[in-house]
Amino acid sequence: MSLTIDQLNTAGAEQAAALLDGIYEHSPWIAQRALAARPFRSLAHLKYAMAKAVSQASNDAQLALIKAHPELAGKAMEAKTLTAESTNEQNKAGLTQCTPEELETLRGLNAAYGAKFGFPFIVAVRGPRGNGLSKREIIATFERRLNNLPAFEQAEALRNIHRIAEIRLNDKFGVVPVLGNQVWDWQEALAVHTDPGYAEKGQLTVTYLTDAHRACAAQISAWMREVGFDSVHIDAVGNVVGRYEGQTPDAKTLLTGSHYDTVRNGGKYDGRLGIFVPMACVRELKRQGRRLPFAFEVVGFAEEEGQRYKATFLGSGALIGHFNPAWFDQKDADGITLREAMRHAGLNEAEIPAIRRDPARYLGFVEVHIEQGPVLNQLDIPLGVVTSINGGVRYDAATAVAELILYTEQRAAQDGDSVGTVGQLEVPSGSINVVPGRCRFSLDMRAPNDAQRDALSADVLSQLAAICARRGVHYTLEESMRAAAAPSAPAWQQRWEAAVESLGVPVYRMPSGAGHDAMKLHEVMPQAMLFVRGINGGISHNPLESSTADDMQLSVDAFMHLLDNLAAQPIA
Ligand SMILES: [Zn+2]
Repeated sequence: MSLTIDQLNTAGAEQAAALLDGIYEHSPWIAQRALAARPFRSLAHLKYAMAKAVSQASNDAQLALIKAHPELAGKAMEAKTLTAESTNEQNKAGLTQCTPEELETLRGLNAAYGAKFGFPFIVAVRGPRGNGLSKREIIATFERRLNNLPAFEQAEALRNIHRIAEIRLNDKFGVVPVLGNQVWDWQEALAVHTDPGYAEKGQLTVTYLTDAHRACAAQISAWMREVGFDSVHIDAVGNVVGRYEGQTPDAKTLLTGSHYDTVRNGGKYDGRLGIFVPMACVRELKRQGRRLPFAFEVVGFAEEEGQRYKATFLGSGALIGHFNPAWFDQKDADGITLREAMRHAGLNEAEIPAIRRDPARYLGFVEVHIEQGPVLNQLDIPLGVVTSINGGVRYDAATAVAELILYTEQRAAQDGDSVGTVGQLEVPSGSINVVPGRCRFSLDMRAPNDAQRDALSADVLSQLAAICARRGVHYTLEESMRAAAAPSAPAWQQRWEAAVESLGVPVYRMPSGAGHDAMKLHEVMPQAMLFVRGINGGISHNPLESSTADDMQLSVDAFMHLLDNLAAQPIA
């Protein structure tokens, strides 16, 4: 019999603690403290309360928790003194059947790790999908984390302990994140398509209109039909458009989606999560035989990342009529023009103007996206409600620079939520012992609103002028990008907040540092985004980018709440 939240909420203190016994290894104090947050509103609430009990505990208590765990494939396993939970988990990962070489490797890693950090290496061996990491993945993770700084690694160990607890709780409560698993599996399956030259390196790269890109579009279309969209087509720029019609033919449409192209050697979730989460919602609506009082349109945007051609946001831009015909003559690295690539893909460029959407027919745009940053991961919070997509301005400059980098960093920090980055720095034909005569660098400045961005930019540029005057150097400046900030529409931000709130997890508001498709739609209709926690420090544009099936399930649940709430209070 599975435990229920109701049983846990109504049990006496001692009995309730006993019900949670073994969720955290040899550490009953975590359940005892977390129970103070009763009544729990959901399993996600309980998980958060337990993680919070740990984050609020002393450093000594946290270290003791980590040290209560056995070494991976260590002496306790050999002596068969592991807890039942640990035996089961190490068994499933195949760690109980290591070859002598693998055991040797693990012993070496255990020794090096213990010497560096003073606690055992802990990894949630059932992994982000819950079905188990391979021994190869475990060993690779072990080797990678050995390079972490001690404070980060201690936090990473605790996060893995929370993930172990999450899976144990799922088992205890008989919960399977069915739709989260589905979203995960779609992403995994889509990632088999990668551009030539990357597959053999095991890298994911899908750039605009390559064979892999078109295979992705075909695959997404097929899955959309399978889950029950009423119509699916690929439009004139390669966007995959699925519609789930409303109760009446004249109903307005809620628009959502994200991009399916990737950066070179990118992650499997960037963009794609925002296509598959609403697809999971349609799968659920179809299963329930439900129609909403509005139509639901899910778009897999063909291009966002600007990898093959200089133009970016080709997919979402075309929907708002921002397709510049001058782009047709842009060439990729092989000299293939955008026009040629589109014709090769069977797209008809003459139809591009016709895919522009009439904003009057739409309620608004919402987008789910992996966070691409460490904030939610550090806070143990699964979802974040985006308050604004930062506006940015980017310059390429040439001058003496060290002083300016320091100033930019300090000046951006003054605002609290601005970001200033000198990401490229180059001394053309520099020598190690020659004072450089020339330096080229980039300057990227972002803030949640345009006024704040412009004030930051003005201060940094006047400082640049002052530094150059004082040092007697020249500078030149070229603005290479300027994007307006896209504050979330308050009503739509509130809808995400209400959706997250109803899941029983904290409502955490945050700006988006990176640009997203929602920025384009922002120009013609209200928009708001939901961020999903990433793991591995929130790394993105990298193969290590990941999230868990449980967090994906929560984002599907949040999206379903948003649809339900919108259906209950129809808006004009
Ligand atoms: Zn993205």
